Amino acid sequence: MFIPYGYGYGYGFDWSYLLLVIVSLVLGFATQGYIRSTYATWSKVDLPGSQSGADVARAMLRASNVEVDGILSTPGELTDHYDPRDNTLHLSDGNLRGGSVASAAVACHETGHAVQTARGYLPGRIRTAIVPIVNFASSVWMIVFIIGAFMAMTGLMQLAIILFAFAVVFQIVTLPVEFDASHRAIAYIESAGYDQTTVRGAKKVLTAAALTYVAAALTSVLQLFYLLGQTQRRR
Ligand SMILES: [Zn+2]
Repeated sequence: MFIPYGYGYGYGFDWSYLLLVIVSLVLGFATQGYIRSTYATWSKVDLPGSQSGADVARAMLRASNVEVDGILSTPGELTDHYDPRDNTLHLSDGNLRGGSVASAAVACHETGHAVQTARGYLPGRIRTAIVPIVNFASSVWMIVFIIGAFMAMTGLMQLAIILFAFAVVFQIVTLPVEFDASHRAIAYIESAGYDQTTVRGAKKVLTAAALTYVAAALTSVLQLFYLLGQTQRRR
């Protein structure tokens, strides 16, 4: 396990920290590499019927009886998102105008988030509600922790860990929200009568995307355990 390895070894070289950094980097690179290559593969496979990602999103919105206040273009690749604040879909140019299996998968996933908002999906509401706390906590926890560590104030370090825990909760709450959006996307793609290749490709793209969120959540949980280990050994 992770924590027992971290403390109880005196104040020599911090192997547990090195292990944390290596695990985080490997997980991050592996999942980012996998989504990029899966996305690239399925970006080369055209959707039947020369539809664009925006067309597919509009069709899914109609089928779900949900409206958005705009489908807009956003710069970059894999930058696609849904903004619940103004109920708009933001699709990267390749997905907005492009008509590949990958564009359809991403467009339907983001539409899935719009459907969640329209239906009042609870994990999505919790996630949106804690964003301001998470933003504050993420920006101050490390400063509080470093001050606490230097001054050997365990209370301050514990406060820092509680702040960091909000970021961990956010990463964990993100998981059901992302899985559900992909589930809605696949359900739509299957129900809309696309061929097996399209369904299979969309599943692959969305599974690869889900792994990046799992890796991020796992990394933040490991980091939380590491921080807890640090306060233990300083007592
Ligand atoms: Zn998403």
